[in-house]
Amino acid sequence: MVTDYAAEGKSLARLDGKVIFIEKAVPGDVVDVKLMKNKKDWAEGFPIAYKEYSKDRVQPFCQHFGICGGCIWQMLPYHKQLQYKHQQVVDNLQRIAKVDLPAIDDIVGAGETEYYRNKLEYTFSTKRYVTNEQLAVLKKDGNVYMDVAAAGFHARGFFDKVVELETCHLQKEPTNKIRNAVSAYAKANDISFYDIRNHVGFLRNMMVRYATTGELMVNVVVGENNIKTIESLMQYMLQQFPEITTLLYTINTKFNDSIFDLEPIVYNGKGYITEKLEDYQFKISPKSFFQTNTKQAEKLYTITREFAELDGTQTVYDLYGGTGSIGIFVSNKAKKIIGVELIKEAVDDAKENATINQLSNAEFFVGDVIDICTDDFFEQHGKPDVIITDPPRAGMHEKLVKKLLDMAAPIIVYVSCNPATQARDLALLDEKYIVTKVQPVDMFPHTHHIENVVQLKLRNKE
Ligand code: SAH
Repeated sequence: MVTDYAAEGKSLARLDGKVIFIEKAVPGDVVDVKLMKNKKDWAEGFPIAYKEYSKDRVQPFCQHFGICGGCIWQMLPYHKQLQYKHQQVVDNLQRIAKVDLPAIDDIVGAGETEYYRNKLEYTFSTKRYVTNEQLAVLKKDGNVYMDVAAAGFHARGFFDKVVELETCHLQKEPTNKIRNAVSAYAKANDISFYDIRNHVGFLRNMMVRYATTGELMVNVVVGENNIKTIESLMQYMLQQFPEITTLLYTINTKFNDSIFDLEPIVYNGKGYITEKLEDYQFKISPKSFFQTNTKQAEKLYTITREFAELDGTQTVYDLYGGTGSIGIFVSNKAKKIIGVELIKEAVDDAKENATINQLSNAEFFVGDVIDICTDDFFEQHGKPDVIITDPPRAGMHEKLVKKLLDMAAPIIVYVSCNPATQARDLALLDEKYIVTKVQPVDMFPHTHHIENVVQLKLRNKE
């Protein structure tokens, strides 16, 4: 009997003193499990038979549920998802951080649990994921008759297989219409899909970004520098979808999918879109990071601003600042904002965003936080009153944690997308800081991902 949820969306059961982590099961299910790993204290596996289904289960609303690597929690009602996410935060903070904690408020849920993403990235592939049932239908006379090309998302657990999508519910239309039309146009015109094993083929990826301002950006990544084919596809897309406000393409002939070292080429429009949070405007370029759930980002940043307790007199450091969005969002309540971010393009965007929003009190610096945040740096830009930190999933570098302890800012606001590494860092900060507020936020309904904001105060200031 599955009794609980564990990290990374897995569930767990306890048997003879051993913890068993199980994929694709929910608390309340009774399952037979095939073990893939079997250690002394724990094991890991997946269900081969469901003896009983949990009464919590609901019918997933998406036809691609189960094989698509996207929304793995659709079989749970939203209020249950929120409950498990909240419990994950509490468990991590209690078991890993082991620090004194305030009461933890309920997770802030999303008003919209579908069509909430402003960005989706599709993959075109010659390796279509086919279920055994589909295969049986496609088999005739011992041969398999099927279209091997697919446009969609990676199948759950496969880096090379792609689920052919018909309708995805994560982003509002015309996202599905564009993907399906591009796929159909390619097939009708003998334009190849990318073969990830042999590294040949034309259509590779497509990123669709739709801002709440109505601006729509599409960047098509192609694996061959074939201008004629690019031109015909771009023309077709513009004719079919006049709502695309800016259309780009990127030529990627490398073995990996990353476009960070490549230059997207603007085919039509201004090459970026503008998103709005409150009255602040943010320019989003094809390669820059922006929170993917705009409405929840506004809530996340509002909580961050409240936790910073700003009154206009403070010097605020925004570490792991990306395109400066948090810093800019809190700027009118701060004396000065100092942003630090690793990626140069993001810092360029941050500077431009500061100008667009007419900020005169913000500065942004490029580099690794552990190289930039030296004693000299803090001396030069002012003693921090508030430090906002928003690291990637790996959490903060230990050196940075040590520096934060040295700097002893009265308030630290720690925004995290991984409560486990956040908890580890809070344990280190415990030397000087007390956790005063904790607020989880759900940015990604139907997935197991959690965002959590923590306010820390210097002990002797309490
Ligand atoms: N606060 C921003 C971005 C958060 S994502 C927002 O809300 O939009 C985390 C950011 O940390 C990314 O932009 C990433 O490029 C940056 N980053 C990762 N490692 C870093 C490091 N060692 N030093 C500085 N920035 C880093």
